[in-house]
Amino acid sequence: MVNKRKYQEFSKDEFEKVLWEISPVVEFFGDFYNFDWQKDKGEWVKAPGMINEYCYFLALNSDVCIKVYSSVKKIVDLSRPSGEDAIRIVLASTADAKPVRGKFTIIKRTGTWRRNLKLRVSEAIGSLGENMECPRCKNRILLKRNSIDNSQFLGCSSFPKCDYKRKFIL
Ligand SMILES: [Zn+2]
Repeated sequence: MVNKRKYQEFSKDEFEKVLWEISPVVEFFGDFYNFDWQKDKGEWVKAPGMINEYCYFLALNSDVCIKVYSSVKKIVDLSRPSGEDAIRIVLASTADAKPVRGKFTIIKRTGTWRRNLKLRVSEAIGSLGENMECPRCKNRILLKRNSIDNSQFLGCSSFPKCDYKRKFIL
């Protein structure tokens, strides 16, 4: 029996396996995204130094992704010791990985981390559009559903005045 409350160790491969179950569109954050963002007076600014854990994209569309901080350290390929950082996710801009939300969602590395990670990702997708603005008219973006084929997309709340829309992939 797995102790559900006990701290879990996992490798990079084990973590990636869970991400693949969430989405077929997973990408590793390459060197271009090796920098991180931190809050300074309420604004996201580039943090000094490089990210020392593996981070991943879950692609949603050409504007937004879910950025996943695995807590798996680079080089050793093992999760950090107990008491250090948890898994974190945040909705971020695809262009520069800058968070489009005020804060990260934390997933503790207990026995239920796999299920919790999936749950938090689906919550983030469900809230997509909240606090996001239309790049054309600056009105709110909404997650909408196509009435013909039932597919989801992101569209401007001021439609039909503004017809901005984006594909939604995950
Ligand atoms: Zn608009």
